Amino acid sequence: MTAACVGSYRIVENARLDARNTFGVSATASMLVEVADAAALPELFGYAMLRDGPVLVLGGGSNLLFAGNPPGTVLALGGQQVRIVEDDGPRAIVRADAGVEWHALVLWTLGRGLGGLENLALIPGTVGAAPIQNIGAYGVEVRESIHVVEAFDRMLGKVVRLDSADCAFAYRDSRFKRDPDRHVVTAVEFALRRDAAPRLDYAGLRDELLAMGNDAATLDGARPSQVAEAVCRIRRRKLPDPAVLGNAGSFFKNPVVPASQAEGLQAAHPSLPAFRGNDGTTRKLSAAWLIDACGWKGFREGDAGVAASHALVLVNHGQASGAQLLELARRIAASVHERFGVHLEPEPRIIGATW
Ligand SMILES: Cc1cc2nc3c(=O)[nH]c(=O)nc-3n(C[C@H](O)[C@H](O)[C@H](O)COP(=O)(O)OP(=O)(O)OC[C@H]3O[C@@H](n4cnc5c(N)ncnc54)[C@H](O)[C@@H]3O)c2cc1C
Repeated sequence: MTAACVGSYRIVENARLDARNTFGVSATASMLVEVADAAALPELFGYAMLRDGPVLVLGGGSNLLFAGNPPGTVLALGGQQVRIVEDDGPRAIVRADAGVEWHALVLWTLGRGLGGLENLALIPGTVGAAPIQNIGAYGVEVRESIHVVEAFDRMLGKVVRLDSADCAFAYRDSRFKRDPDRHVVTAVEFALRRDAAPRLDYAGLRDELLAMGNDAATLDGARPSQVAEAVCRIRRRKLPDPAVLGNAGSFFKNPVVPASQAEGLQAAHPSLPAFRGNDGTTRKLSAAWLIDACGWKGFREGDAGVAASHALVLVNHGQASGAQLLELARRIAASVHERFGVHLEPEPRIIGATW
């Protein structure tokens, strides 16, 4: 490995990425560019290798699987600034650089009494990646709080500001995820409120707040920081910590199928959870239930496995390669399709192979 610093960026050749992905699998970038200040991006993308070659923007590596080495250049943004750019009392716009750790941002906003991100507490990764798959948890998606995404547009060769509609957010999806080679997100602005009502519709949140000693009569007035604490307690119980057991959270999206197909499946399997889609004609099925029903929970082959506590979470018990984890994921998806006729799609981005 050799490294060189040029102004606000640093270039590392043959950089190991093992500690830069939460699966903890081995991978090497032929060139890693660490960018301290996003203002350097127009200059960097003036070089042929970045302008014309493949570029992978890497955040915390918690939503990708290196099934092989990334082709081309890997770019990591380091900007760490968070600030309030507008404040009219009840509502404030918070701007955070792409390199800020997501949970640190959530804590920063809660410390200033701002609500909106509390249900998304403890999601690993960076601010820059949050809009990519429109992160969501406990009944809330980040798109509900996104005011503007600022990004370097590789096609236009300049920085653009995209509002929520421009980002075309959907369930674990956005225009960035569909067209991953176009934008490098440099900062995100969030519209947050000091008077927001807590969002407690997701199963288990109210019970957790009660277990924390809150009074049932006052739950609807719970502070955002209390909701965040409840979310953290549930997450720590349910999800393996990547620092202990390599994983990328949920490996599969919950499949969305026509309502008629969901009804047929539920008639045969009454315990299969299915949730109404926004348009009423589709249903979102529980991928965890489908995988569990095929007997995969706790499965292990070599060091590649499925978490014993959660059928959706693929885990690396130590030395599994990305290719072995991908192979296991394909077997799981094939068995679900064979038994239920439902296609599973991976949630993390697969690098170095196709799904
Ligand atoms: C234990 C665990 C729990 C999780 N729980 C959840 C959850 O509840 N909800 C949820 O939605 N996700 C969850 N995830 C997935 C993951 O944490 C999120 O998707 C997170 O936003 C990924 O951030 P990252 O910085 O690690 O992105 P990376 O994994 O580094 O990158 C993911 C994708 O975003 C792109 N990207 C990253 N940064 C940028 C940028 N600045 N500009 C352009 N593209 C960029 C990458 O190229 C890649 O395509 C979980 C993961 C783990 C390990």
